[in-house]
Amino acid sequence: MRFRLAAALLLAAPALAAAQPAIPTPASVIGFEPGTDRKLPEWRQVVGYFQALDAASPRVAVRTLGKTTLGRPFIAAFIGDSATIADLPRYRELQRRLADPRFQAPGEAERIMAEDKVVVLITSGIHSTEVGGHLTPLKLAERLAGGEDEEARAIRRNALVILVPSLNPDGMDIVGDWYRSSLGTAWEGTQPPELYHHYTGHDNNRDWYAFTQPETRMVVDSLYSQWFPQIVNDIHQQGANGTRIFIPPYMDPIEPNIDPILMAGVAQMGKSMTWRLTAQGLVGVANNTSYDAWTPARQYQLNHGGIRILTETASAALASPITLDFATLRPGYNVDPKQTGVDFLTTWPGGKWTIGDIVRYQTAASWALLSQAADDRALWLQSFAQVQRNGVLGNKAPGRAGWPATLVIPPQPARDTAVNAALRILQRGLVEVRRTTAPFTAEGKSYPAGTLLIYTAQPYGGFAKALLEAQHYPNLREYPGGPPKRPYDVTAHTLPLLYGFETAAVKDSVTAPSALIATQAQTPWAARGLTDGKTRRIAVFRNYSASMDEGWTRWVFDQYRIPFTVVTAKDLRAGNLGARFDAIVLPDQAARQIANGPQGAYPDSLKGGVGAEGATALRAFVDGGGTVLAFNEASDYAIEALELPVKNALAGLRNTEFYAPGSIFRAEFDAASPLAAGLTTPVQSVWFEDSPAFEVTDPSRATVVARYPASGDPLLSGWLLGAEKLSGKAAMVDVRQGRGHVVLFGFRPQYRGQTMATFPLIWNALRAIPSGGTRVTKAATP
Ligand SMILES: [Zn+2]
Repeated sequence: MRFRLAAALLLAAPALAAAQPAIPTPASVIGFEPGTDRKLPEWRQVVGYFQALDAASPRVAVRTLGKTTLGRPFIAAFIGDSATIADLPRYRELQRRLADPRFQAPGEAERIMAEDKVVVLITSGIHSTEVGGHLTPLKLAERLAGGEDEEARAIRRNALVILVPSLNPDGMDIVGDWYRSSLGTAWEGTQPPELYHHYTGHDNNRDWYAFTQPETRMVVDSLYSQWFPQIVNDIHQQGANGTRIFIPPYMDPIEPNIDPILMAGVAQMGKSMTWRLTAQGLVGVANNTSYDAWTPARQYQLNHGGIRILTETASAALASPITLDFATLRPGYNVDPKQTGVDFLTTWPGGKWTIGDIVRYQTAASWALLSQAADDRALWLQSFAQVQRNGVLGNKAPGRAGWPATLVIPPQPARDTAVNAALRILQRGLVEVRRTTAPFTAEGKSYPAGTLLIYTAQPYGGFAKALLEAQHYPNLREYPGGPPKRPYDVTAHTLPLLYGFETAAVKDSVTAPSALIATQAQTPWAARGLTDGKTRRIAVFRNYSASMDEGWTRWVFDQYRIPFTVVTAKDLRAGNLGARFDAIVLPDQAARQIANGPQGAYPDSLKGGVGAEGATALRAFVDGGGTVLAFNEASDYAIEALELPVKNALAGLRNTEFYAPGSIFRAEFDAASPLAAGLTTPVQSVWFEDSPAFEVTDPSRATVVARYPASGDPLLSGWLLGAEKLSGKAAMVDVRQGRGHVVLFGFRPQYRGQTMATFPLIWNALRAIPSGGTRVTKAATP
């Protein structure tokens, strides 16, 4: 910041030396005005701009939080009055003390609120094809640091802004490099043929409770857990053909453990932003559509005392302009972009839509948010303080009489790794966990010493409760009696079922003696015979029509240090696969995408799917003794391409007949099957998400490894319509073909890196399946 005098003097005109130093413009560093058609910056240029700001202005301090997945620097800029920036440790301490009412002296909260700033975290660019998010932070930083209008001054006076110019710097270059290479070609403005986060792709914004990736961990550990922002603004883009920008309120449903004060704050902030944008003549602003507030995977701060304001601006073709006819604009839930209403006050007439428009909308929306935050500084701090007071009241807080006082995790040595993974999640989310030093009895059940206790009466008790309980997703319909209303993301996030361990909820506060446990180190993850192994030659299929599940598969294998080779459709088409591999994994993807590859304009070198040649090669691979693992929807591909004696019983059903958009189901595994060996979870369950369910048509060739219960509702967490369609259907099938096997997983066995409960099924299928492993039993008849 102000220690790099030489750079500051170079950038400041001599005549202005006594006043605030001149602020460099983004164009002076990146070479063009943000929002120029067909221009995107590289990450090093963005970092260069923030370094230049830091050097030029005492109002800016740039920090490097660490390295990204692929090794780029990950930065955050602190911006405020120079006095605020000169005294950052003091403001961090004020926030820390305000966040935990248990340790405040009488009147201390009021004294803190009198002098504290409202802390606003602005994050951008997590989804790297939403390219306005690569540019808008430059405009915001320039005005925040250098603006001399009253609004800019009021923001600096009342707020401390933490700006993360990209939550995914690797992706900025993956998309930028692809885009620059595509300029002037038929595929200009298309999606890149690879994931824009090395492991997670678009799912990088579904990691806000599992905390699997370094980018998520840096933001949580260095920003959320240090600075307790009262307001978070996360900048995104939506499709091109709807409204021009979405601003909350969110549509239903709301995660029930979120403090209602925060949802009222979301509505207040969103409507205030809508008001300002409308007054500025920005049209096509939508509220209460498409985006809900259900999964904690997308909204860390709503479970941590602050509001999260998502904005979603309409996209162009990356940085290339598009033209849209008004008549082609498509409706979403509650809002039709061709029709004004209470959640959509002005229409956009159609026409040209450019990267400049995107940057203009995003900048105006963030500026409106900052201005409101500054205007209502005291109210935001009071609201935060009250949410935290409610947190430590637990079930004595308004509306929480039904809450358990204590969440209990008994000792379970066979599931130690799973409990460890969950504890690391809870502790990273600032949840305090205690271990009892004596046995106790609660609600008629005895627990030994060493049982873990989580009191819900603590600042983030609601976060722990949300992750440890089963979800009951509301039965929402598009209209009374109509089809189910699609959730924005999945409907379940129950750690005990995902990771596989036992918990209990106790109504009263358990009073057994206990002590706070230290931050847990990670128990190493290992799979017998596979970790660091060289005996099994494993391939993972990667499509140029990228699949996030392929990335998650690689992530899980890398965590377990299981060596593998990535193969493309071209590799599969080339055949002779048995010479190279023992097992080939087909990650979750629609059958036609696997068969056909990327569609639309792409270079010839990327075109083509597995096709007929690849299907023939896969069949020869299995006949010769290889194993194919097909995850979730890829099972449909395997059934068809390899002509397996299995049917998907759910094929062709309408969503009014059967619907499960990401839920956890009970399944019964055949204990005698070698493919089900090593399952030690207290409840056998699977992650079901647009999944198939199987019927075996030739039991002499195919064995059922897992089934849904023959009667009753298999739903354990989330949402399910049409439970009877699953009754007795197979969830996992082992098909013997020639000398090899095809293992069909009718679920996602490594869902987003979280379903540790079902990881052993993958390891079993990757190991040599014992001869006689496919047993034919009477129970396996369709
Ligand atoms: Zn996005």
